[in-house]
Amino acid sequence: MRAVITGGAGFLGSHLCGALLARGDTVVCVDNLSTGRLANLAGYLQHPAFTFQEGDVSELLEVAGPVDVVAHLASPASPPDYHRFPLETLAVGSRGTENALRLAERNSARFILASTSEVYGDPAIHPQTESYWGNVNPVGPRSVYDEAKRFAEALAMAYARSRNVNVGIMRIFNTFGPRMRAEDGRVVSNFIAQALNGDPLTIYGDGSQTRSFCYVDDLVRGILRMIDSGATGPINLGNPVEKTVYELAGIVLKLTESSSGVQFHRLPLEDPVRRCPDIGQAMQVLGWQPEVSIEAGIQRTVDYFRLRRSEVASAAGTIAGPQFEGAANEASRNAASAAIPA
Ligand code: NAD
Ligand code: UDP
Repeated sequence: MRAVITGGAGFLGSHLCGALLARGDTVVCVDNLSTGRLANLAGYLQHPAFTFQEGDVSELLEVAGPVDVVAHLASPASPPDYHRFPLETLAVGSRGTENALRLAERNSARFILASTSEVYGDPAIHPQTESYWGNVNPVGPRSVYDEAKRFAEALAMAYARSRNVNVGIMRIFNTFGPRMRAEDGRVVSNFIAQALNGDPLTIYGDGSQTRSFCYVDDLVRGILRMIDSGATGPINLGNPVEKTVYELAGIVLKLTESSSGVQFHRLPLEDPVRRCPDIGQAMQVLGWQPEVSIEAGIQRTVDYFRLRRSEVASAAGTIAGPQFEGAANEASRNAASAAIPA
């Protein structure tokens, strides 16, 4: 199989490239290196079945030769990244998705969209099922990402319905693991980098908001199942074990054996309060569920960060803080810093 992976130099995309090569597929990675990096592909660049093509898929996506699968992962994904690149995020969700769909159509290839739990916005039902239409503010600070992905889903469905493209939509929930950038601003990489640097862990709000964290190897297994299936979806892919951000801080402090404390900051505006996938569809249609516990996954990610101490140390001053802060809440008024029980 010959697969085109847009965004293949990023965190998830590079793992997907590796998994496809490992099972004998041929991979063409297209990336503009805006939030990804070539270092993620270091193990594959010399592989005879791997090609790297630098380019902005919002402008053009042309790949010579036959294509069996187009997996469209290109998009800034961390909140600080999509706030830094708001127009580019909207462009890659709209024009970029259309260019990827056209490439799939020209080649009669399967098209896989990396959509997100953000299409549910600040959800009113728990856990989130695919039948829930979401609660998204179309003009809020997260809208550049959320609405780009919602548009991308609509576009993919239009190509499926009117042009017979073999579409599969995945709604990916928070995923973490090696190759996250130490400074990319997401909670897992922030906490691990801060713990290893001996800096306080920056909890936004009082830490009672929840996320469900999936280890990258599990997620990539799910993406392969989605590629190999004929399922249209949308299908949630994520770990259904819900944790508060405060609990996550405790896990990171314990596994790093760090003496860092925590520091409360204002909650970013419209930060979703709860997020947890219902993965019934993924289990039933794809025969998939996560296998790696959050503790085991965090341990592997800590080990990866420990091997990159200089990168982690230099991230100390550059880790992006909360964007679009909301009103001061109880925690940020009362607690500039605090100890957290491991
Ligand atoms: P990432 O930022 O590490 O990777 C995104 C990649 O896309 C980068 O390599 C970047 O350079 C590339 N890119 C961005 N715009 C591009 C463009 N116009 N042309 C070509 N390349 C471009 O992020 P990630 O965490 O690996 O996320 C990958 C995909 O999965 C994204 O579409 C994201 O929305 C989706 N997703 C990720 C998560 C998660 O928890 N990691 C959750 C939900 C959805
Ligand atoms: N968060 C936090 N401290 C950080 C970074 C993030 O408390 O240093 C919180 C953030 O407010 C959110 C959760 O952790 O409630 C997950 O944030 P992330 O940016 O990783 O993902 P997303 O908000 O897109 O789910």
